[in-house]
Amino acid sequence: MNLPNRLFVDGAYRDASSGRVTTLVNPATESAFAEVSSADPADLAAAIASARKAWESGWRDLAPGRRAAILFEVARRLREQLEEIAQLEMLQIGKPIGDARDEAGLGARVFEYYAGAIAQFGGQTLPVARGGFDFTLRQPMGVVACIVPWNFPFPIACWKAAPALAAGNAVILKPASISPLTALKLGEIAQAAGLPPGVLQVVPGAGSAIGDALVTHSAIRKVSFTGSTEIGRRIMELAARDLKRVSLELGGKSPNIVFADADWERAADSSPMSVFANTGQDCCARSRVFVERSIFEPFVERFVAATRKLIVGDPADPKTQLGPLVTQAQRTTVEEYLTDARARGSRFACGGGRPLPRGYYLEPTVLLGVGESDRCWREEIFGPVVAIVPFDDEARMLQAVNASPYGLSGSLWTNDLRRALRVAKAIESGVLSVNSHSSVHVEAPFGGFKQSGLGRDLGMAAMEGYTELKNVYVAD
Ligand code: NAD
Repeated sequence: MNLPNRLFVDGAYRDASSGRVTTLVNPATESAFAEVSSADPADLAAAIASARKAWESGWRDLAPGRRAAILFEVARRLREQLEEIAQLEMLQIGKPIGDARDEAGLGARVFEYYAGAIAQFGGQTLPVARGGFDFTLRQPMGVVACIVPWNFPFPIACWKAAPALAAGNAVILKPASISPLTALKLGEIAQAAGLPPGVLQVVPGAGSAIGDALVTHSAIRKVSFTGSTEIGRRIMELAARDLKRVSLELGGKSPNIVFADADWERAADSSPMSVFANTGQDCCARSRVFVERSIFEPFVERFVAATRKLIVGDPADPKTQLGPLVTQAQRTTVEEYLTDARARGSRFACGGGRPLPRGYYLEPTVLLGVGESDRCWREEIFGPVVAIVPFDDEARMLQAVNASPYGLSGSLWTNDLRRALRVAKAIESGVLSVNSHSSVHVEAPFGGFKQSGLGRDLGMAAMEGYTELKNVYVAD
């Protein structure tokens, strides 16, 4: 397999002008397997100039039908190369191949959705009081920056780039430095599908080296970011200088609430993967489980039994459910949380150790007796760790759920319709599922309340977020 290992700028692969590279390490084997060019601010400036030119000289004014046809062709080619994309994703972050295939398919589906959305996307006519004719236009912004994390590199690159392109913008896509391969492949495939050079460019590089230059560049009209709350805050501060538009999808500490009247056996069987999928490196991970006291013990027993059955191992094996953590540093961070939990007297119902001698693996870990002030309860761990607590009273449980500074996702299990509606309304989060753990739907808005971010990815909301809204009044 040919590894895409250079910047994708102005329609071609290019070396970084500094010659700097990032070494990629396969987290399942701990072996270095590739060196990828790492952009510096000069490369970035060249890419942004090319994007602006491509936007002004054609992409901005291309007929919507033509834009849609190109994006449908991108989707078709993504499907054609789905296996290669999945293999690259597996190599760079240790994602189990089954998940990597699903996520490659999701990326293609996102392009189809926004290609189709172009024909439905427009303004309104408004009956203004003074008469005449008033209408709104949804206009593209120009060049937008899409900054993507390493946990879902390909789908998140697609769900930022596709609506931005569909709305008529040019895109600078910055993958995380440790996971650039599938974003680069996307740039290459989109160009082959007919996207004009410069309209989608991919600039791998360390956030510390090019992040500030990207966010503060005067030609960038919007920054769409997914990553940690800490970096999101910094981006918002920098963007404030010239009132750049931002959308931020940040961290989470999502609840999973199980009432005694629910089909709690089904909840217990399915809940481990709602936190341990992607080895817990998931902003939607349901890492705080609240269980009504009358079913607490049998629920925990069943949850732990289901956790013990999860298959941890080689990401290339289609049966594997949990791969390694993404880097040695990430595993160290997660293990520090476990050390803290031990010191504070939490009980380990299962997990806590390293299951394999090689690779950055960690067992899925179930903690009981975690206190409200413990780090494992309050902070996003971003690893395979869950805490389960009992509750007696709905109102107090909701207070504890909403005490988190985050508000991204969550699940609620009950068969009482009125309770489901009441609790769903009361939870402070942008995404919630009832009797399910599904958070992401291409057609529906995805994003957070509070410190989980602002703005929305996916659905028509994302496409609107890549436009300026103009009102035009025409007198009689
Ligand atoms: P991160 O914040 O370290 O990095 C995210 C991206 O930002 C990377 O591309 C990185 O290179 C870049 N970056 C780093 N410093 C920058 C700077 N100063 N300026 C501009 N860009 C910079 O996050 P991560 O470790 O890659 O991802 C994990 C985090 O992402 C977790 O907190 C997780 O919850 C969050 N996340 C959120 C969602 C969501 O939709 N809410 C989805 C996935 C991940």
